[in-house]
Amino acid sequence: MVTKVIGVLDLQGGVQEHLAHLQALSIPTKTVKLAKDLKGLGGLIIPGGESTCLMRLMHVFNLIEPILQEYHAGLKIFGTCAGTIVLSSHGFIDIDIKKNAFGGQLDSFSSEAVIPEISSKPIPLTFIRAPQIVRAGSEVTVLLRINHYMAAVETSGILATIFHPELTPSLAFHRYFAQKCGFLVSDEEDFEWNRHTWMNH
Ligand code: GLN
Repeated sequence: MVTKVIGVLDLQGGVQEHLAHLQALSIPTKTVKLAKDLKGLGGLIIPGGESTCLMRLMHVFNLIEPILQEYHAGLKIFGTCAGTIVLSSHGFIDIDIKKNAFGGQLDSFSSEAVIPEISSKPIPLTFIRAPQIVRAGSEVTVLLRINHYMAAVETSGILATIFHPELTPSLAFHRYFAQKCGFLVSDEEDFEWNRHTWMNH
């Protein structure tokens, strides 16, 4: 399958960080602000930010229906954090979400986990006022379960995390998503990082 570019929804939130991760993998990118920008995409990322604001802007710019249409026509979508809330709220994936499930901004934290489907190496995880996925339908594959909640899930068309791979030096989730979209991705190394200092980079 020949695919073209991966778009990043550019209304609010962590847009540049997703673009940088895709570009580090040599994936052509574009920003998506209007429905016309969805044409010909090989994949779409809905970034983290603030879901209420994001959904309001998606409504104002008439983007929800066009994205649903492209999704039903085969567009793969990756949501991170607030992006996952958007995907859940609009029926892209059958999951239930508990917003701000860890508390407020000061309860944000980082961690790491091995997620075999994504990478053989541990993946750094950054949770910022994160939601929890508290239920997943039978067609949803759970990639990472932590205690009573799920942190990363997928279906054939959707990849969704409650954490922010784009705010870490790891390219593993973006590589996996690009492959899901049909891109041939070489094994570029992750951004240089030291697990004790990477948040300063
Ligand atoms: N708590 C935010 C919300 O409900 C999500 C935070 C994030 O995307 N980092 O939208």
